Amino acid sequence: MPPSSAFRSVNALLLRPRLTASVMSTQVAVAVAVAGIGAYALYNNRQAAASSDKPIFSSFGFRSLRLHSTELINHNTKRLRFELPDPNQPSGLSLTSALLTVSFPNGRWLPVLRPYTPTNDLNEPGFVELMVKLYPGGKQSSHIHSLKPGDTLTFAPIKELAWTPNKHQHVALIAGGAGITPMYQLLHGILNNPEDQTRVTLVWGVNSDEDIFLGDEFSALEKKFPGRFKAVYVVSSPDARSPHTKGYVTRQVLEKAGLSASLEKNLDTKVLVCGPPPMEKALKGTKSFVGGAKGGVLAELGYTPDQIYSF
Ligand SMILES: Cc1cc2nc3c(=O)[nH]c(=O)nc-3n(C[C@H](O)[C@H](O)[C@H](O)COP(=O)(O)OP(=O)(O)OC[C@H]3O[C@@H](n4cnc5c(N)ncnc54)[C@H](O)[C@@H]3O)c2cc1C
Repeated sequence: MPPSSAFRSVNALLLRPRLTASVMSTQVAVAVAVAGIGAYALYNNRQAAASSDKPIFSSFGFRSLRLHSTELINHNTKRLRFELPDPNQPSGLSLTSALLTVSFPNGRWLPVLRPYTPTNDLNEPGFVELMVKLYPGGKQSSHIHSLKPGDTLTFAPIKELAWTPNKHQHVALIAGGAGITPMYQLLHGILNNPEDQTRVTLVWGVNSDEDIFLGDEFSALEKKFPGRFKAVYVVSSPDARSPHTKGYVTRQVLEKAGLSASLEKNLDTKVLVCGPPPMEKALKGTKSFVGGAKGGVLAELGYTPDQIYSF
């Protein structure tokens, strides 16, 4: 199993909220492995500094990066910019990628590992940027929100869906809450590449209107790329004057957004999903005993499992 696949497995076991007691032995194993991360990260940082034109995340490994600056972008989300060892150094991350973060908050001896999605241009040298939502009592999001400029955080690259421009005529991005960040990375990767003509429909389900912190940017992109990009918002507890649909991302919402698989324009549509577990379950159904999924809104709309990818 290549290292990135190995980490996807660890990710599946440890990183999502569905943690079970049976995972504890894996946690201990990971703790032992992570005990060497500090020294390894230091070694890698020195290596990286020695050859600064070498992309920092071109191969698997842990790197500690210094926090350069933070900015609160809504009531619970921070944008954090981390410096690469050399200002001209490329990140080496490809579309689409995440970064596994490792920390020992509040003196814990077991590591906390969670993936986050770089949201700056992946070709920007010298920096990686994250947008992190604070979950009340959340182990890693609280730790990351407590970081001050000059503090460090340890990262390892994770490859997600390998994006091929124009492989699909249309991609549907369905996000819930902080699940917007992988969609944001992909949207920018597509629209910033003049060779990529893929059309993009984004459906973003949030709790309140103030959660839509990228709304102005998405409106500007809709104007800049008419016919190529459309954003639809669904708000579960909207303000009295909210212009958006009230509720959750349902079959009706997706049909209204033009996402029925039976429509000619959706015959080769790829559907990407990232959101909290209840939303993913509603969209993708439950796992059946014989493998594959049972039910779910996307199947009802006519999408086949190979058309669906979950971050
Ligand atoms: C591929 C991938 C990329 C991601 N990218 C980002 C990103 O760019 N920015 C970002 O903010 N997050 C992102 N996440 C989510 C992130 O990895 C963590 O799951 C999240 O920050 C919560 O971790 P925590 O340790 O703070 O919370 P935990 O200590 O694990 O949980 C604390 C509480 O928060 C609730 N909770 C945890 N996660 C979620 C969730 N996703 N939705 C709803 N409730 C939740 C739990 O039910 C629990 O009650 C990504 C996840 C994946 C799988």
